[in-house]
Amino acid sequence: SRLINVSLESLQRKMIDAGMENAISYDHVINSDYASILALEFKKNPIIDEEAAFDIFPPYPHPNPSTLPLRPPIVTIMGHVDHGKTTLLDTLRSASVAKGEAGGITQHIGAFSVPVAQNSGSSLNSITFLDTPGHAAFTAMRARGARVTDIVVLVVAADDGVMPQTKEVIELVKKDEKLGVVVAINKIDKPGVDSDHIKKALLAEGLQLECFDGHIPVVEVSGLTGQGLEQLVETISLMAEVAELRAERSGPIYGYVLESKVLKGLGPVATVLVLRGELTSGSNLISGVASARVRQLMDSNGKVVKSAYPGMAVTVAGWKELPSAGDEVLRGGSEAEIKKAITNRKRRLEQVVLEQDAEAINERRRNDRIKRERLSEIPEDVATETTEEVANTNTIKWLRLVVKCDVSGSGEAVVGALEGIGNNLAQVKIVQSSIGDITESDVMMAKAVQGAIVAFSVSVPRAMQTLAAANDIPIISSNIIYRLMEAVKERVIALLPPII
Ligand code: GDP
Repeated sequence: SRLINVSLESLQRKMIDAGMENAISYDHVINSDYASILALEFKKNPIIDEEAAFDIFPPYPHPNPSTLPLRPPIVTIMGHVDHGKTTLLDTLRSASVAKGEAGGITQHIGAFSVPVAQNSGSSLNSITFLDTPGHAAFTAMRARGARVTDIVVLVVAADDGVMPQTKEVIELVKKDEKLGVVVAINKIDKPGVDSDHIKKALLAEGLQLECFDGHIPVVEVSGLTGQGLEQLVETISLMAEVAELRAERSGPIYGYVLESKVLKGLGPVATVLVLRGELTSGSNLISGVASARVRQLMDSNGKVVKSAYPGMAVTVAGWKELPSAGDEVLRGGSEAEIKKAITNRKRRLEQVVLEQDAEAINERRRNDRIKRERLSEIPEDVATETTEEVANTNTIKWLRLVVKCDVSGSGEAVVGALEGIGNNLAQVKIVQSSIGDITESDVMMAKAVQGAIVAFSVSVPRAMQTLAAANDIPIISSNIIYRLMEAVKERVIALLPPII
């Protein structure tokens, strides 16, 4: 609407008239054909920039999904803290190693696969458990509306009962009708526990349990002794069979990054959860602004595999840059196509940064107006100083930072510490934060926004030092958050206007 100089409301009205009522939310991306039709409606002459319009899109939905092969269900374990999620996952994981490849070493890759006993009559071979429930990736994927979980196992400790986080999970599953739920009453090995009491409490929270003629199965388990786990696996596979989870095992891949890190000898690696298609060695991938030519695929037992199929999570080596957890993974096409798509994606990111700046400034202007209106009621001599201060906020200066950290957890801490620095004249804006060493794309991003790079506990390769220096990009590097804060503060102060 800004480009064709009409109000958002009138654009939305026109879109509804044109039958595009499902696409009018402010963040909906429309393709160039629709955009041109709308521009014409407003008597503007559209010119399509084919270069800028280029991207790699997810494959179209299959026209006849019921003919596709079944895939393993993707399961997430959720519940209140200390109710035994980690213990349960560990026991399930070690069972999978024992039954799987002999001598395999369990790797923590964000997901693992548990075989389904073939005498159980199930047509499923395995179940995939995500072991990153509270993880940033999970939140990021949910925020994007991505469905990466088919079934939630709600763990409730028999000796503790329904607690605040139990209720949060209940609310979450109530909102999502397609999400399967199974309740695991855990720590059943403890003497004197009363599981009937827990079942009634869950019913009172609105969970339609099977034992009360509802549809949600309940299994009594002990993550510690392994009691009931076979029944839990059986229950999940039964639910998965009823849900008929199907996906294409060939064709372009579609998936998500669960975790990413830099490994010595392998470089940047990422666990990719495949949702569709076949992921093979040698294929080209794109994820966010990172790309890969797949060099090696490894399962959660550390075993090198040739291909990965829907429902499987594998570690992928061969990334040129480190992709971010929660980002979509797609087949990239040719090197040239990938390059074009990444250039455009970066350009769009810069655009978002500029729009965020504009929005922040508008917000301040709105607040200032309100303040000025209020100030007009105050005697003049008191008001002068404050109004001047208000007028200055329109020329706020930003110190834009690209933040790099060693592990995801510290990333949040560093971003949190730096974000608050500044006042209404000069302020920090975090443009991008990710894990791993500084790469060329970080330097380019910092250059694009005329900012600086902050490196916490990561190495700065010599080549990147040279590249940054050549582009006049400062690198602020330290292993101590406090030092980083001090250095950033100094740069923010340098942005302040001189005192007259
Ligand atoms: P999380 O916070 O939900 O991941 O819970 P943990 O798996 O860390 O478990 C919290 C505590 O409960 C630990 O001390 C575990 O040893 C204990 N625990 C977990 N599962 C069981 C169980 O089935 N039986 C008993 N008796 N203790 C358990």
